[in-house]
Amino acid sequence: MDVKHNLQQIESEIQSAMQKSERNEAPTIIAVTKYVTIDRAKEAVDAGITHLGENRIEGFLEKQSAITGVTMHFIGTLQTRKVKEVINHVDYLHSLDRMSLAKEINKRAEKTINCFVQVNISDEASKHGLKQEEVLDFIRALADYERICVVGLMTMAPIDATDEDLRSYFKALKALQLNVQSEQIPYAPCTELSMGMSNDYAIAVEEGATFIRIGTKLVG
Ligand SMILES: *Cc1c(COP(=O)(O)O)cnc(C)c1O
Repeated sequence: MDVKHNLQQIESEIQSAMQKSERNEAPTIIAVTKYVTIDRAKEAVDAGITHLGENRIEGFLEKQSAITGVTMHFIGTLQTRKVKEVINHVDYLHSLDRMSLAKEINKRAEKTINCFVQVNISDEASKHGLKQEEVLDFIRALADYERICVVGLMTMAPIDATDEDLRSYFKALKALQLNVQSEQIPYAPCTELSMGMSNDYAIAVEEGATFIRIGTKLVG
């Protein structure tokens, strides 16, 4: 399918999710281009996409240098020793999940880095991210790292979750976001929620996602 057609379908599903939940502002769609070529990523941009996401350094740098005028999201696990290769090309990092990573980012960044704190909301053993109950202390401990701005929280739901489970995970992330916001930490406005992928974005939008990360359904 061409990307334009896929995008129209996704946008119409977003519209119905917004109507159901009575929200007015549409989420930003991040086209996750990790499975596809530069040409296919460009097709997404031609269709109107302005945000691209990649989960590996090589793919990230390849798309970032080939495609101009887009906002680049690094959505994968970032190894501490690789931070210097990529961090100054990143507009948003979705996978801040440990102090050692924060420290290295702070050391290597030449500008403020917009970070999502990754949360393991379902508490799956196989998933990256902080446990819910660790998030607030983690964010407070970032105070010394002046190059880090916590723009929001990110999660990945388990692939086998039921709709009911998904809804409860996304609700939990939203509640945690409000909790962080209520602390009024200057470097952690936490206005954004990065949640929802090809299979679960409609529920994520209903529950307040402001960034959805779509690969397969859009460009796959
Ligand atoms: C691959 C990936 C996505 C997109 O997944 P799809 O199911 O293909 O939409 C979103 N977020 C992260 C972190 C990913 O690694």
